[in-house]
Amino acid sequence: MRAPLPPSLYAETALPAPETPALDGDRRVSVAVIGGGYTGLSTALHLAERGIDTVVLEAHEPGWGASGRNGGQVNPGLKHDPDRIEKDFGTDLGSRMIALSGGAPDFVFTLVRQQQIACEAIQSGTLRVAMEPRTIAGLRATGEQWNRRGAGLVPLRDEGAEAFTGTRRYVAGLLDPRGGQLNPLSYARGLARAAIAADARVHGGTRVTRAQRDGTTWRLDTPTGTVRAEKIVLATNGYTDDLWTGLRRGHVPVYSAIVATEPLPEALARRITPHRASVYEMGEITVYYRLDQQGRLLMGGRSVQREVGRPEDLRYLIDYAIELWPELARVGWTHGWSGQIAATTDHYPHVHEPHETVLACLGYNGRGVAMSSAMGPELARRVAEGPTARFDMPVTGIREIPFHGLWRQAVQARVLYGRIRDAFRL
Ligand SMILES: Cc1cc2nc3c(=O)[nH]c(=O)nc-3n(C[C@H](O)[C@H](O)[C@H](O)COP(=O)(O)OP(=O)(O)OC[C@H]3O[C@@H](n4cnc5c(N)ncnc54)[C@H](O)[C@@H]3O)c2cc1C
Repeated sequence: MRAPLPPSLYAETALPAPETPALDGDRRVSVAVIGGGYTGLSTALHLAERGIDTVVLEAHEPGWGASGRNGGQVNPGLKHDPDRIEKDFGTDLGSRMIALSGGAPDFVFTLVRQQQIACEAIQSGTLRVAMEPRTIAGLRATGEQWNRRGAGLVPLRDEGAEAFTGTRRYVAGLLDPRGGQLNPLSYARGLARAAIAADARVHGGTRVTRAQRDGTTWRLDTPTGTVRAEKIVLATNGYTDDLWTGLRRGHVPVYSAIVATEPLPEALARRITPHRASVYEMGEITVYYRLDQQGRLLMGGRSVQREVGRPEDLRYLIDYAIELWPELARVGWTHGWSGQIAATTDHYPHVHEPHETVLACLGYNGRGVAMSSAMGPELARRVAEGPTARFDMPVTGIREIPFHGLWRQAVQARVLYGRIRDAFRL
């Protein structure tokens, strides 16, 4: 059954959703994509553009998962710095991973323009900020490594960080002009519309309950029909269930949450991120924020490990924002919501090919707006041209995390520990 969109600012402000009726009856297709977030929709769009008969099967509606609830920060790169990526994967694959992830925001902003998606996208930069002197060296190293590769990042001292954020909390910053922001649910719906226009069929309210090999095809069972597909792509990220044995146990689903204000008075909005960069802090617990085009502040961070639907549930984020900008004590906080991402233990996205006709891709570790979109053409090429096609991410076997069942307590404990360290500036 199609669950309604969880309450969020985007549920009230996004572009209307395209028609995505549930699957009705039995179909045969070349490729079935399971999951209708950015990964699935971008893959389906690029498959359909190659003339490949593609269907998307989404349990609820396109953008129902993290893709319709995230912070809207279009951030470049992977979690690890470029030198580390080349050390881990060698210079050939490593440099291709760096190029893919560094160019992922450009990919998003170009796609938005080409497909004319009205999602308030602006390439206004990503700003990382350091709160403790001990993290400055790491920030500088990140900038230096990217700039050796021509990225054009700008290091900022404390007063530079203050000019970009309107708070004295930060001791340094690193401005990355490749990044930016958008309305995530509008972008997801725009991608779905583009995929449909390219002749992919997108079915909402269609959870795949079983995937079974049947001769030379896959038989996918859903409550309202069956799809027989030559190939399948699993794009279920933090909402992965037990459809594919072991996939759910290869990562840790972690909740992140966001609170939003009403549109801020103009003078205050001009002070907090005057250039509208997307900001994220380099603390024990990452806090991220941006101002949207209407001048609302959206601040996000790790969450209690459950769905929340009201700003009062996220009082600690509101208190933190007021600590940064005391004027925010006098504005209305209108929305609060959460959603799940997939965290991997090595902090890299995971691409698996458990059968020559099956691909799975997930685990963007908080950089998924850009990365999951950019994986679309990569996955489409691999599906269309096979395992010898160029592919700019490592393809690995599914590795289950030992004691996976304990993840919820472990994440909660880690979040608490991080909050205490940040609160006491340890
Ligand atoms: C609160 C929050 C803030 C975030 N902020 C940022 C940010 O600012 N910048 C950034 O880069 N990233 C951010 N992220 C992460 C980013 O949103 C994700 O990495 C990205 O959206 C992943 O897209 P996806 O398509 O892989 O997964 P999702 O968008 O989660 O889509 C997976 C879909 O699979 C469907 N599904 C699952 N099982 C089945 C099944 N059996 N059958 C059919 N359908 C199924 C689900 O219904 C879901 O819609 C944030 C995430 C959250 C939750």
